[in-house]
Amino acid sequence: MARYTGPSCRQCRREGLKLFLKGERCHSEKCAIEKRNFPPGQHGKDRKPKIIGYGLQLREKQKVRRIYGLGETQFRNLFEKAAAAKGITGENLLSMLERRLDNVVYRMGFGTSRAQARQIVRHGHIQVNGRKVNIPSFQVRKDDVVEVREGSRQNPTILASKDATAHTPVPNWLDVDREALRARVTALPQRSELVQIQINEQQIVELYSK
Ligand code: SF4
Repeated sequence: MARYTGPSCRQCRREGLKLFLKGERCHSEKCAIEKRNFPPGQHGKDRKPKIIGYGLQLREKQKVRRIYGLGETQFRNLFEKAAAAKGITGENLLSMLERRLDNVVYRMGFGTSRAQARQIVRHGHIQVNGRKVNIPSFQVRKDDVVEVREGSRQNPTILASKDATAHTPVPNWLDVDREALRARVTALPQRSELVQIQINEQQIVELYSK
């Protein structure tokens, strides 16, 4: 899968808001949005584009795609699944993004960013219902138990993340036992508790419905 490997902060500057892609740095004064909140590039400072219509829809899609760290094709495929499922497409899409295993590990506080959580999953440190799962896009379901595997409980990255996120709120749909490095999915995520960043998912639905 083609994956964006450029500077994370550049993506936030493009969207003009914090997407929280870099863990602790995002909460510090080193955050690029705090220091230079204007679009990247030589003329970023000079341009003040008025974004309407298609541009708005595109920016909304890019924003959500970047928050969750998905490639274009992966995001589009997830949208198709959301559209085919029962219910409201936009809400289905956000729910599916939240239920990705890398996002769940991030929400549990065992990665300081989704990118770090994804790596923790990829490296085989996580199990779901007692079985190792190293697929970041794995969708958790209600009553699934997600936990750090026995051999990874002293992993310094995981332990450091756990300390760094000690005061980060955990969503209601996860029952997290931080000491046991475990969480149970108690419900499917509701729209109201999905993300800390304002998202207008209807713009994405309209973009893909053209
Ligand atoms: Fe960089 Fe995080 Fe600030 Fe975004 S929120 S600009 S990723 S430090």
